Amino acid sequence: MKVAVSVLSSYSFCPRSVYLSSVLGLEPDSVASLERGLFDHALRKTLIAKQMELLGAVDDAGGLVSALRDVVERSFGVVLEDYPSVRREDAEAVRSEVLADLGALGERVSYIAEDLGFDAALRRMSPWRVDYPVSSEKLSLCGRIDKVMKESFYYPVEIKTCSPPESVWEGDRIQVCAYALLLEEDVQAKKKIPYGFVEYTRVPEMRPVMNTDSLRKKVSETSEAVFKILEGVVPDICPHGSGRKCESCGYSKKCYEI
Ligand code: SF4
Repeated sequence: MKVAVSVLSSYSFCPRSVYLSSVLGLEPDSVASLERGLFDHALRKTLIAKQMELLGAVDDAGGLVSALRDVVERSFGVVLEDYPSVRREDAEAVRSEVLADLGALGERVSYIAEDLGFDAALRRMSPWRVDYPVSSEKLSLCGRIDKVMKESFYYPVEIKTCSPPESVWEGDRIQVCAYALLLEEDVQAKKKIPYGFVEYTRVPEMRPVMNTDSLRKKVSETSEAVFKILEGVVPDICPHGSGRKCESCGYSKKCYEI
């Protein structure tokens, strides 16, 4: 049996949420911030996939930004159809943020293009793969990596649309490291993948995650803990202190009744 890497991240947020979703099969209630995040995530992945297709089709940063703006406008309604619960004002806010980020992308490409030329700059900034499926019997893990970048080695980038912390959420660190482990096996890497990134779109910033030995161990410990829940261990309602986690959790209504 394999566990989805995203479940390890959920465990880090709250072990009981793993029990509610993966054992009891409960769906979280619709929470506006979650719906917004899912829509944001989907729109950005559509955009990134198109960015890769523009290699060779545009000549400079201005052309790139203009082509990607068209993609956003054309994809917006199509992607929105898959997320009917997202509030219209949230969807419009996502569209504005994504369009604003394109300006920053254009500036970065221009900057790198000064040394490398436009095509090489765009190639460097474009992922090798988007939504890349990975799976391992040995690790008992599976998942889909938002972006796999290829430089002198492959590394994962996880897109997060939530509010970012000062550094990187623990669950996001575990998720990126788990993807690195899966990727090492998938591409038969000769060396360990030293780092990956979390891309917090609200900021927007790419924050590094160093795949240290202790983080690698934490991935395996979290995986073991998740398997115990799947085998029948029921986590308590977490003593979250301020209760802020429960307030933002889609299971808050059902959780306390079980
Ligand atoms: S409501 Fe609170 S205790 Fe229950 S799953 Fe959500 S975060 Fe965990």
